[in-house]
Amino acid sequence: TSYHKVLEENRLLYNEVQDLKGAIRVYCRVRPFLPGQSNGQSTVDYIGENGDLMIINPLKHGKDARRVFSFDKVFGTTVTQEQIYADAQPLIRSVLDGYNVCIFAYGQTGSGKTYTMSGPDLTTEETWGVNYRALGDLFHISKERSDSVKYEVFVQMIEIYNEQVRDLLVSDGSNRRLDIRNNSQMNGINVPDAFLVPVTCTQDVLDLMRIGQKNRAVGATALNERSSRSHSVLTVHVRGRELVSNSILRGCLHLVDLAGSERVDKSEAVGERLKEAQHINRSLSALGDVISALAQKSPHIPYRNSKLTQVLQDSLGGHAKTLMFVHVNPELNAFGETISTLKFAERVSSIELGAAQSNK
Ligand code: ADP
Repeated sequence: TSYHKVLEENRLLYNEVQDLKGAIRVYCRVRPFLPGQSNGQSTVDYIGENGDLMIINPLKHGKDARRVFSFDKVFGTTVTQEQIYADAQPLIRSVLDGYNVCIFAYGQTGSGKTYTMSGPDLTTEETWGVNYRALGDLFHISKERSDSVKYEVFVQMIEIYNEQVRDLLVSDGSNRRLDIRNNSQMNGINVPDAFLVPVTCTQDVLDLMRIGQKNRAVGATALNERSSRSHSVLTVHVRGRELVSNSILRGCLHLVDLAGSERVDKSEAVGERLKEAQHINRSLSALGDVISALAQKSPHIPYRNSKLTQVLQDSLGGHAKTLMFVHVNPELNAFGETISTLKFAERVSSIELGAAQSNK
């Protein structure tokens, strides 16, 4: 019943989200301590119902020790995958109405980004992340609407590593570099040379995800886990033909698991590691810059400063809708990174993009 309550609230939220064009919502998710982490002292002091998150600095005392960050919503450690998805669902629905949507997972490595987007285990449906649930829903809703609209769904999976774009659906794991071009035929598909695979059911998607995950691992070096050093972008392109008018609508959903946001100690990072870190820092700040330029109605939006923002260009600003899940690891030794994560999130969340593009 609580799920039904969520769905009902969701229906209301959906109406609200239909007006959300150009705005960015930021949701914060705090992950629990992991089994074996028994020291238990958390840097999260308090989570308010209104989207406030109070962080406590273990090294300080009194008033100075606490700082409050405000978001559209904050999810505590007991929130389930189902509940997380319920809050993203209205945006997913609007893809079938012809909107472009971006959902990002942001946070330091180990804070739960992949958990939110993919889930810990493909084999258990209960823990599926936003990706699978979103695609399952797209199939489900398009079937519901099949009397009036005939939908086709296509999937692309790419990785951006050191400012190079790679196709994750190439089964030989080749390192073929891909160019980014605007593809007016396929709304939101800006990497036209990467495979774009038609899918009709969740099983198709699971099969593709397996290939993608395997290819991601192929590139991993012994030194570090590559998946945390690259951005992965799962793009879903939806094409609908309205049966009465024969008109075509196109929507696009980008599900983005961002590279770990942690700063690398300059004195320690050398060679490849330093290069990776610089690319990541640059592309994450490019993302922040694009969002704030849109908000400030700047005549120049710096999409071209990173591959990530080029790939997502059609789906940031304008009539697009954006949701960012910001992830917090509550462990004491993550405190510094937690603060910078939250500061980044605060920078993007204090921004209303709606007015920015209202003349479009
Ligand atoms: P990231 O993608 O940010 O590097 P992961 O998603 O891999 O982080 O999460 C790190 C670890 O924490 C994994 O073992 C994951 O299963 C666990 N974890 C993350 N979020 C949650 C959560 N909400 N509930 C339970 N375990 C979680």
